[in-house]
Amino acid sequence: MKTKLTTRVSEAAKAILAGNLVAFPTETVYGLGANAFDERAVKKIFVAKGRPADNPLIVHIWSKKQIAEIASEVSPVAKKLVYKCFPGQLTVVVKKNARIPNIVTAGLPTVCIRMPSLPIACAFLKQCGVPVAAPSANLSSKPSPTTWQHVLHDMDGRIPLILKGPKCEHGLESTVIDCTKKIPVLLRPGAVTVEELEEVVGRINIPIAIKKALSPGMKYRHYSPNGKVHLMKRGAKIPFNCAFIGFSNPKTAYKIKVKTAAEYAKKLYWFFRECDLRGIENIYAEIPEKKGVGRALLNRLEKAMAR
Ligand code: AMP
Ligand code: MG
Repeated sequence: MKTKLTTRVSEAAKAILAGNLVAFPTETVYGLGANAFDERAVKKIFVAKGRPADNPLIVHIWSKKQIAEIASEVSPVAKKLVYKCFPGQLTVVVKKNARIPNIVTAGLPTVCIRMPSLPIACAFLKQCGVPVAAPSANLSSKPSPTTWQHVLHDMDGRIPLILKGPKCEHGLESTVIDCTKKIPVLLRPGAVTVEELEEVVGRINIPIAIKKALSPGMKYRHYSPNGKVHLMKRGAKIPFNCAFIGFSNPKTAYKIKVKTAAEYAKKLYWFFRECDLRGIENIYAEIPEKKGVGRALLNRLEKAMAR
């Protein structure tokens, strides 16, 4: 299969409606989309990514009105979050309806919904008309793509079309929150922080071991470069022949020095992929503070360390 690049939203939407896959930009990471109502199309996502069938997908919309086409019940907590945080980097888990095929939710009675804010993503989803199921557009277990070039690197020859857009503004996946419980549960930390969520809905439950797979996808090794990832304390000594990302300025062969946690998040996956291209075997990442975006960063770094 030849992979075509386009900047035309209409061409990308047409491909979705024809039952094909399209990789598309969002403000978090690039997604690999299919018509969420089309079981055969959604199946192609799992094949192209090499994604395990028990890892459900996020359904993307451009209008809050579409929630009624996907969900059978929207709890008061979900309503509040949708009102305050859509469009944006938040994904809510609500009860699914019968129109959403089981393959999308890996057989779960719930469905993940997100409304991205990036203008080209909104325009694309609007032209599709149907909700679009999409995980990140990387090969399974690799870091999520934050540029169209990353998508092409992983998916060349595996998907028919990539909608080219800008470099992703946030660079980490969305925050996932289960709104089917009385007190909402954080399933995946992300660009929208716990502090921001608590301002909207009051207390939320943060499981001690998010990595223990409350959300099916979180049990898999993820976001990983080929080299070994080591977490290190700020300012610790590291060998010269390695790569580094963090706030300090050690003497190493290759490094990315960041000023804020947001910048760290934005550059992390890009850095991992760069390490792969350079064949770097040992990668040192400074431990961020476990608050704000730092919580999501730490979660991704821990996943990337897993072997
Ligand atoms: P990705 O977009 O590749 O980051 O994958 C989507 C993430 O959403 C994975 O971690 C999934 O496990 C999670 N997810 C999707 N649907 C559900 C659901 N119904 N309940 C809990 N987590 C979900
Ligand atoms: Mg992913």
